[in-house]
Amino acid sequence: MEITQRLITNSIVGQLANLCQCCIRLLLLSCLFFPMVVQAVSLDNVPIITFDQGEVRVYRDESHQLTLDDMRQANIQAQFEPLQGNLGLGYIPDTVWLHLSLTRLNSQSSSRWLEVLPATLDQIDLYHIDPKGQIDHRKAGDLAPQSAKEKAYRGNLFKLEFEPGQHELYIRLKTSDSMIAILKLWQPNAFSSHLLNSYLAFGLYYSVVIVIVFFALISWLISRRPIFIVYAAYLTFISIQWLAINGLIAEFIFPEKPLQTNLILVMSLPLTIIMGFIFFPMLFEYSRYHKYLHRFCQIGALLGIATLISIPLGYYAYLAPLLLLIGVISLFTAPWPMYRLWRTQEYWNRALVLSYSLFTILITLNAMGTLGLIPFKESFTYVSMASTLIEVFVMYLVIMLHYTRMGYEHDKSLYQAAMMKKEVEFEQKHYAEQNQLLAMITHEIRTPIAVINASNESLQIIDERTSSKKDRALRYDRINNAVMRIDMVMRMAITQTENDGFSFEETSVDLIDLTYDVIGLGGVEAEQRVVFNDLEVNYIVSADHDLLRVALFNLLSNSLKYSPKGSLIHINMQYADSKKGPRVNWIVDDKGPGIPEGMEEKIFEKYQRGDERNNQPGMGLGLFLVAQITERHKGEVTVENIPSGGSRFCLSLPSHAVLDQ
Ligand code: ADP
Repeated sequence: MEITQRLITNSIVGQLANLCQCCIRLLLLSCLFFPMVVQAVSLDNVPIITFDQGEVRVYRDESHQLTLDDMRQANIQAQFEPLQGNLGLGYIPDTVWLHLSLTRLNSQSSSRWLEVLPATLDQIDLYHIDPKGQIDHRKAGDLAPQSAKEKAYRGNLFKLEFEPGQHELYIRLKTSDSMIAILKLWQPNAFSSHLLNSYLAFGLYYSVVIVIVFFALISWLISRRPIFIVYAAYLTFISIQWLAINGLIAEFIFPEKPLQTNLILVMSLPLTIIMGFIFFPMLFEYSRYHKYLHRFCQIGALLGIATLISIPLGYYAYLAPLLLLIGVISLFTAPWPMYRLWRTQEYWNRALVLSYSLFTILITLNAMGTLGLIPFKESFTYVSMASTLIEVFVMYLVIMLHYTRMGYEHDKSLYQAAMMKKEVEFEQKHYAEQNQLLAMITHEIRTPIAVINASNESLQIIDERTSSKKDRALRYDRINNAVMRIDMVMRMAITQTENDGFSFEETSVDLIDLTYDVIGLGGVEAEQRVVFNDLEVNYIVSADHDLLRVALFNLLSNSLKYSPKGSLIHINMQYADSKKGPRVNWIVDDKGPGIPEGMEEKIFEKYQRGDERNNQPGMGLGLFLVAQITERHKGEVTVENIPSGGSRFCLSLPSHAVLDQ
């Protein structure tokens, strides 16, 4: 039978040298003492020996009663089975015995450290039978305080002296945790350097974890998003679990309180799983996209709580494996949410998928090893720890990115809401304005309708009494003018309601004709009061005839309205040069009160009225409309007070609009 050794040295050359040396010696020895070395492992100058290739034999004692003497009986010896790989029986209640033969070939005795991993084994009894047959019994396990250990160390160590010859080791194991065991035999120097390296690695690992937890807490304080606190809690519990599994709590935090250490260890498993069942559904939005998985995780979290409660009741050993199994099953459901995330095509989601998948595979291996479903390997623990680190780091980045994006979306929604609010306000204002307009139309139409009625009645009376053509013509004129006024109001209303836009049809408009037209609209009063002398030059502009008529009529009717009864109103036209180029000015002067100081521009605004003391009816829309129409013609309208009294309104149009005369 071939004896295999696994050598771990710092250099490959050293490894090869040791291996060759070992093989040669074993070959020689196997020739000399063949029967003796069949199952024994050589103890030559090898820095570390691991026993995972069948060198260790195992026996399960269900009665918990058997002693070393029993183990050495032939019938029990026959029941020992060689162990392929490390011991990994899962959560079993049995006491387990391991047997190992070691041979010291060298003529001098040598010291070795025997390490029994993991640190979480409850009770370890080591029986060392030296070549003279003397039995040395030692104890270790995490139920003993650090001061009772041979060396204050996070795991279980036994200092052994190996004299030349064959040594038998019997190791009795009892634990309420998973029955895992890894045996390592160290040269003291090799162990010291391993110790240093491992503390350095642990130090780095936990520094990163602490930094991430710290950042998660800060993120929570700033954003108040629950996922950050859940994440920090999950990370804390998972780190405590790794601390406990690696025996660091026993070594550094509660060295003399093994009960507390054990309590932390057993509590950390359900707490981590509970937090995992809360955190991952939050991260992957199960409640929104994966209802069944969400329910499953809720059940898992409840089972975790039940496992926690079972600790003082003594049922932990039954519920813990079940919880672990549910945890493993939940990891197998990962492809589902992963597929959804992958399809989003966002690079941070894909990074999450990759890191989470890696984490899932490694943690599953670790969990299956712990459950005894696959042979346990020490590397599972360290690789799982490393993958946890990558995963938590990526996860933190993803959460940050996710919420930065959510913050952006939130701001965008707020902006949209504000815009919608503005729109609603605008609509409301528009609606109110339309109501006002309606009220104004009703008010404005009342006067011409009254005129039409009165003129109609007068016509009937005239028809009955006289048949003076002049009288009749006067009444017809009035009716005509009143209808024109209604038409004007209707036009105003239409231009206001149709999105504040005018239908604009440009034609050649004779300003002089239009002025006569507008004076005619003003009725008898306008005809009597307006002074408009025929001008020698023609003023023909390119404009929308009907709109310009509305603008000019509004200016004239204001002058009629606001100046004293009987006072004269002068209308004039002229060509002028302005900064914006040559213009045609249409000017109306009256003898009214003028415009209050500072109101010269304001009176052109919508619903803006001037001095209310003049008691004239109105809605403050006339000049606004004039300004709009003028602007549409690329012109300007201004007002100034005449020093001798009254106001002068000037409607100015670009003279390129002046057509050939
Ligand atoms: P309304 O006449 O319905 O009030 P307008 O927009 O036509 O609305 O006029 C706005 C204001 O400008 C008027 O309320 C009035 O105070 C002032 N105003 C307009 N034209 C004259 C004018 N010729 N003389 C004095 N004040 C005027």
